[in-house]
Amino acid sequence: MIKIQDLRKNFGKVEVLKGISTTIQKGEIIAIIGPSGSGKSTFLRCINLLETPTSGHIWVNEAEVTNPKVNIMKVREQVGMVFQQFNLFPHKTVLENIIYAPMMVKGTSKDVAEEQGRELLKKVGLAEKENEHPVRLSGGQKQRVAIARALAMSPEMMLFDEPTSALDPEMVKEVLEVIKSLALTGMTMAIVTHEMGFAREVADRVLFLDDGQLVEDAPPAEFFSAPKSKRAQDFLEKIL
Ligand code: ADP
Ligand code: MG
Repeated sequence: MIKIQDLRKNFGKVEVLKGISTTIQKGEIIAIIGPSGSGKSTFLRCINLLETPTSGHIWVNEAEVTNPKVNIMKVREQVGMVFQQFNLFPHKTVLENIIYAPMMVKGTSKDVAEEQGRELLKKVGLAEKENEHPVRLSGGQKQRVAIARALAMSPEMMLFDEPTSALDPEMVKEVLEVIKSLALTGMTMAIVTHEMGFAREVADRVLFLDDGQLVEDAPPAEFFSAPKSKRAQDFLEKIL
């Protein structure tokens, strides 16, 4: 589904991704773990071209998205993204937030977009909030709306960048539950997270990034019980 070959990204003279290669199969759940500043967000943002890779190649469904001729909007349609800071439109209601992109980008009619939007709100447990504005929602509810909004584009894959890091502790679980239920539908996902219990339980593979390098790529059982590298051992010792 996704193939990444020797991905490099520089900001000025600083190389923050130093040649990352991996593949993600359809339906796989990938947890991306690593110290702050290791390049996790940049890595995700390169996959849907929010950042332009400096060099290397990325294919999504056989199509090379790093080909300069590619339609970036089409790629972003296929790859949904959820951020730490929700990024909802504050002046729109919950349902308006969800129907905006399908109507504007895909040309879905308002009736159909609303019907699909309500279905998605049910899935994330917020059916009764469709007319609220984001300011009236808790952080956990906002993040669930953001997930529904990304799903409204019917993406082939979802990227989550620390989806629970901005939440009060009591709201982490409700968001992780929604992500877990999405995993059960077979959605392909890559999730940057510090929730190690979640990564262990839900992920098929853990990618450990450190200093812009993919240091380990292993199933969670293996990664958490017997990390191969000194760098992953040190990291896990600090946080577990
Ligand atoms: P992580 O998500 O693992 O914390 P990031 O991908 O956000 O790491 O950042 C990796 C490195 O790239 C950091 O040193 C960060 O300061 C730098 N960086 C990220 N975005 C930019 C940017 N837009 N301009 C300059 N440097 C950046
Ligand atoms: Mg980050």
